[in-house]
Amino acid sequence: MSVATGPLFAFDNSFVRELEGLYEPWQAAPASVPRMLLLNEPLAIELGVDPAALSAPDGVAVLAGNLAPDGASPVAQAYSGHQFGGFSPRLGDGRALLLGEVLDMHGRRRDLHLKGSGRTPFARGGDGRAAVGPMLREYVIGEAMHALGIPTTRALAVVATGDQVAREAMLPGAVLTRVAASHLRVGTFQYAAAHDDPALVRRLADHAIARHHPAAGEADDPYLALFEAVVEKQASLIARWMLVGFVHGVMNTDNMTISGETIDYGPCAFMDAYDPATVFSSIDHGGRYAYGNQPPVAQWNLARLAEALLPLIDAQETAIEVATEVLRSFPERYDAHLGRGLRAKLGLTGDVGEDEALIDDLLGLLQAQQIDFTSLFRALSASLRGDAERARSLFSEPEAFDGWSQRWRTALSAQAFDPQAIADAMDRVNPVYIARNHHVEEALTMASTGDLDPLRRLLDVLARPFDERPGLEAYAAPAPPSFGEYRTFCGT
Ligand code: AMP
Ligand code: MG
Repeated sequence: MSVATGPLFAFDNSFVRELEGLYEPWQAAPASVPRMLLLNEPLAIELGVDPAALSAPDGVAVLAGNLAPDGASPVAQAYSGHQFGGFSPRLGDGRALLLGEVLDMHGRRRDLHLKGSGRTPFARGGDGRAAVGPMLREYVIGEAMHALGIPTTRALAVVATGDQVAREAMLPGAVLTRVAASHLRVGTFQYAAAHDDPALVRRLADHAIARHHPAAGEADDPYLALFEAVVEKQASLIARWMLVGFVHGVMNTDNMTISGETIDYGPCAFMDAYDPATVFSSIDHGGRYAYGNQPPVAQWNLARLAEALLPLIDAQETAIEVATEVLRSFPERYDAHLGRGLRAKLGLTGDVGEDEALIDDLLGLLQAQQIDFTSLFRALSASLRGDAERARSLFSEPEAFDGWSQRWRTALSAQAFDPQAIADAMDRVNPVYIARNHHVEEALTMASTGDLDPLRRLLDVLARPFDERPGLEAYAAPAPPSFGEYRTFCGT
């Protein structure tokens, strides 16, 4: 890396300043022929950077890891992680670097992070590289999640490196620039805790409180309050995933943030037909990270966070009890978020108790008849506008649906809103367009031939997921049966 002339970003690197012991200073491996593939212009502007400066040769060189921007302090971050239940004490950024932090136009601190920028001291056997396809995939899915209003890391850019990376075949390489509220993970706390140095865990916890959960700093027991804040954020986040049928696919503790953002889009995908057993990852043989398992897995991961925080909790004799009590509040918090979300999806504002059976019965019907989860809710709002057939025709045995629909209509008629207003409210929470697997695959296949237009079109559709637009019907439809059973491969 050489040093750039003008400051591209106004860095302020609190992680490096405050958390020595949790990183290794490191430099990116230069790319042979950096070339911009996708630049997230609105996000650049949000970060206070001129998109034109990022597209210029020096900007592309920065995003490829060839040029260290002024004020950056690139480090590979250290973390541990439970991967599919097994503990790895030393994972860390094997192929990524934190460049530094910037304050965005809203004053929020955001990490700038390069993924695919070469081997680091944490690379173990890996090559430190990333291929174009999975990096474009992370870009698309992250943007889709963001547009759905779900907290997520985002991609600022994907730059082709001009180098080949060896996977099952030789593939073109890329570097993704990731923007995150931070890259603090449950695994970061596990790493600090494994060093048997309460001062390190405390520094990390203080940093996390200041950065993400400042209210916890005012609590009687700040570290217990930090834990509770993360439990609450994750309960909310997982509910948001479930409400749009998102399957993360690799919910290891190193892939769960302290900020409550979704991170690490590897073998993730959106479910078509409703089925709690849905798995897309080619390596998740036991279904550990299946759609329906995500809430208990999140709670399991949070138990690992609690273990790391125990030495800091004030009430030492009762630390385990008080932390366990907070941990046990996860299902209740999750159910509250999910229940509120499902009622909103159905336009229900009335009595919660009554709605529960109605919701359970609907999900049972969807599972039994393999109904597309996304299409159904927009078809239901259409039925309130007089088009009953759209929902009915989704069911192979519509009689069962007719009975349910009657009960739903009765519940709605007890509310003091006209059907049009209810339908409009439903349409504000039920997306028409999700990142359908067949469209994502098709767009990535075209991108691999050098044609990025289908990917840009898809990004454009996904940027306004609630806004039904004529001509985009194909993007709303589930995959044809010929697409087969979808499998994704770990983010390589
Ligand atoms: P992930 O599956 O992307 O969450 O990564 C899990 C761990 O493997 C992290 O420590 C990564 O840095 C590391 N890793 C993944 N791919 C590579 C690679 N190609 N080279 C080096 N490290 C990698
Ligand atoms: Mg990861």
